Amino acid sequence: MHEMSLTESIVRILDEQAGMHGFTRIKTVWLEIGELSHVDPESILFCFDAVSRGSPAAAGAKLEIIRVPGNAWCLDCAESVAIGRRGDPCPRCGGHDLAVTGGEELRVKELEVE
Ligand SMILES: [Zn+2]
Repeated sequence: MHEMSLTESIVRILDEQAGMHGFTRIKTVWLEIGELSHVDPESILFCFDAVSRGSPAAAGAKLEIIRVPGNAWCLDCAESVAIGRRGDPCPRCGGHDLAVTGGEELRVKELEVE
């Protein structure tokens, strides 16, 4: 499962951060998931529950997911537009000259530690 390996790498990062910054336990993790990233937040939540149990730092941590909307720059409109999926046309002009500028994130934004 795609989300399982993603969650494993997230938890590995958390353990590394704990070692680097000298905290022992993480209380809350805020994870940004872009709407264009093909990552299912529900699956991440489910996997995190299982994976974090084996982690010294992240065991018992709460995972908060922040959804980042899809955004692109339309070359024809010279404007930033919202898109729901990669490959969608511009909602203003229907064109396809779009450069994705947001919504592909999968990253740990913030940690609450003790
Ligand atoms: Zn446009």
